[in-house]
Amino acid sequence: MKKLEETQIQELIEKAISMMDHSYSPYSHFHVGAALLAKNGNVYGGCNIENAGYTPSNCAERTAFFKAVSDAICVVGGMNKVLKEYAAPCGVCRQVMMEFCDPDTFQIILATSKDQYEIFTLKELLPLGFGPNNLK
Ligand code: ZN
Repeated sequence: MKKLEETQIQELIEKAISMMDHSYSPYSHFHVGAALLAKNGNVYGGCNIENAGYTPSNCAERTAFFKAVSDAICVVGGMNKVLKEYAAPCGVCRQVMMEFCDPDTFQIILATSKDQYEIFTLKELLPLGFGPNNLK
């Protein structure tokens, strides 16, 4: 697994927190920001975008994912942007990650601040995941 440097982790957490400002969450008031580290080193931001029809809503992680194939993602979130506990990716987002990432090496950083974070692999958050390899 590619070891993330501390400066990269800090950059991702900072970007994810700043992306919460772009969140459109008038219904849940649960603001989520995400920052995705692409294989080329670029960092892409994402935020949750709700919809009155609910189904078209998009989570922060997938907003970021639709932009790039990547090595790691940082996700933060909380009611009215208050980060009290880790906001783990929902099941749909984990499945989308499964499609584009290696579950053994893709790293998911969950943070409440730049000092408080934990790193998980996709496999830890989606054990026995069903992905492209199952269809080969
Ligand atoms: Zn999600």
